[in-house]
Amino acid sequence: MKITKKSVVVMHYAVSDSEGTLIDSSYDHKPMTIIQGTGYLIPGLEDELIDHQAGDKFEVAVACDQAYGERHDEYVQTVPKELLQGVEELAVGTQLRASTDDGEQTVIVIDVTDDEVTVDGNHPLAGIDLSFDVEILDVREATEEELAHGHIHAEGESCGGSHEHDEAEDDCCGDNTCDTKH
Ligand SMILES: [Zn+2]
Repeated sequence: MKITKKSVVVMHYAVSDSEGTLIDSSYDHKPMTIIQGTGYLIPGLEDELIDHQAGDKFEVAVACDQAYGERHDEYVQTVPKELLQGVEELAVGTQLRASTDDGEQTVIVIDVTDDEVTVDGNHPLAGIDLSFDVEILDVREATEEELAHGHIHAEGESCGGSHEHDEAEDDCCGDNTCDTKH
């Protein structure tokens, strides 16, 4: 069956930057299961899955504006270290939650001096054109309940609207798709 707007898709993916450097891959662990059309994938990739079916292997090139967006130089800010008192570890690569005009945001420390800290609020993949190697393993229709919840349920089962998080099971919400509140 072909992937439509409401399909549950089980897929492997490997993603590289434009220089061919591997960024992430599902191939060496378990495949990813998504509901098509929920925006779980970046737009440039999700749209390209339509009409593919189990067994298909293909490449998708996604420009940064259809992936994690352009880089914004103004998201890089240098602040006095004293503003970050209470932060235990302050080193290049440390991730912090910052309150900004746009709400809570994750920023990454990119420079530390004696009295100043420079943080970058860009997504680590912002400004990077991506290339995906995709393999479709399985396609089925999403159930009404799955569509309502916005996440996958194990075959034939319902999460009952309550979430028993069992990391070991590849079950409802075992798939880090359970941001949706019931
Ligand atoms: Zn559910």
